[in-house]
Amino acid sequence: MSLIAGSLGVGKTSAINHLLMKMLDWLIIGAGVHGLHAAARLRRRGSTLRLLDPHPHPLAEWERRAEVLAMGHLRSPLDQDIDVGELSLHHFAEAQPRLEPGSFAGPCRAPSVALFRRHVEWVRGRLDLDALLERGLARSVELVEGGVRVESDRGSLTARRLIVAIGRPRTHVPAWAKAIGGPTLHVYDPEFDRSPPSGSVVVVGGGLSAAQLALRWAQLRPGATTLICRRPPLIAELDAAPRWAGPRWSWRFANFPLAGRVAMLDSELRRGSVPPRVAARLARAQRRGSLRVVFGEVTHTQREAAGLALSINGDPALRCDRLALATGFARGFEGVPLFDLTAQALGLARGPRATPLLDAALRWHPRIHVIGAAACLSLGPLAANIAGARLASARLEVLALP
Ligand SMILES: Cc1cc2nc3c(=O)[nH]c(=O)nc-3n(C[C@H](O)[C@H](O)[C@H](O)COP(=O)(O)OP(=O)(O)OC[C@H]3O[C@@H](n4cnc5c(N)ncnc54)[C@H](O)[C@@H]3O)c2cc1C
Repeated sequence: MSLIAGSLGVGKTSAINHLLMKMLDWLIIGAGVHGLHAAARLRRRGSTLRLLDPHPHPLAEWERRAEVLAMGHLRSPLDQDIDVGELSLHHFAEAQPRLEPGSFAGPCRAPSVALFRRHVEWVRGRLDLDALLERGLARSVELVEGGVRVESDRGSLTARRLIVAIGRPRTHVPAWAKAIGGPTLHVYDPEFDRSPPSGSVVVVGGGLSAAQLALRWAQLRPGATTLICRRPPLIAELDAAPRWAGPRWSWRFANFPLAGRVAMLDSELRRGSVPPRVAARLARAQRRGSLRVVFGEVTHTQREAAGLALSINGDPALRCDRLALATGFARGFEGVPLFDLTAQALGLARGPRATPLLDAALRWHPRIHVIGAAACLSLGPLAANIAGARLASARLEVLALP
């Protein structure tokens, strides 16, 4: 798939000119929510670009995660979507001849996953975004004359500018789980067993993903499903206060000293929280006896002849046939090969938790931008969310595009 013009043979200048002619304006690594939204914006401006991602279509990873959890609705409001213009999903919903009942949930009218996916497909088709996809896993980044070359497991691509939009590639797997299957027990791991559960089942985790999976499994295995979490989940409609979705607060955030920004991320993100409607479903399932909720910390696990034994707060308390971890993502970016190798090769700065240190235009290097969760020190608490994708593109448009 190399888009690099042949070899630099005959005359160096003409070879470089040839290379620059063939060079893309932009290459985006990652075709998730953030990569796709950035691609839509750049496509509309007439830039030449490609999306590099190992999956067969954009947003495939997001869809897989939503399916594993049997997620019914998004958490974010209807006005946050991946299209270029404002309120696109809202207008799309209004234009549907018939909307299924339950297309929206909660006071912010969070769209159903089905509606959100239909809208994404419509945007992909309208802007022909699938044609931009090059399949491959980026392994390294190097500077070349006039641009950047990305080596992937399937070849190389060069572009004048690069956007890295790889989300949070590392899940958080508690140390006690390593002895019984580790990463593959995590709901976001590609190897996670998606078959319907049988026997007694346990979900470990304290946030929305854990609640959604536990409710799903309790439907399939009523009375045989347990959710283990440290404390009752916080109840909050959104991941963070809505002000963080707007450019004004994002700019204010970026102007705080680094230590203040880190503290704000920790205090403003409502980790381990669920919207009231999900809290109500949890309470209902408990009342009906289809779901048991245990508050405590798993300290040890071991495999036994028939299933798994879990110690909670040090007490050997619980046996089950199957266990799922919904323990979220690693908070930091250490150990993410693409970031580690790029930082090392180009001498790029990283802040607390190995997060890339970016300028106001989200530049890690004059030719390399970073968006999504890894831009949290520049964009604020909602950097990883759909709102963050819109904030990032707006920054790029104002500060980084001609
Ligand atoms: C289940 C779930 C529900 C969520 N619901 C909401 C919601 O309702 N509202 C909201 O605003 N946010 C929500 N979020 C948060 C956020 O919007 C998502 O996490 C979103 O998927 C982040 O998008 P992303 O593009 O940054 O990362 P991802 O979706 O993870 O996409 C990253 C892409 O990069 C690719 N990639 C990674 N490494 C490489 C590499 N080396 N080379 C090439 N490609 C690579 C991956 O294959 C993937 O396709 C949710 C998250 C989850 C997990």
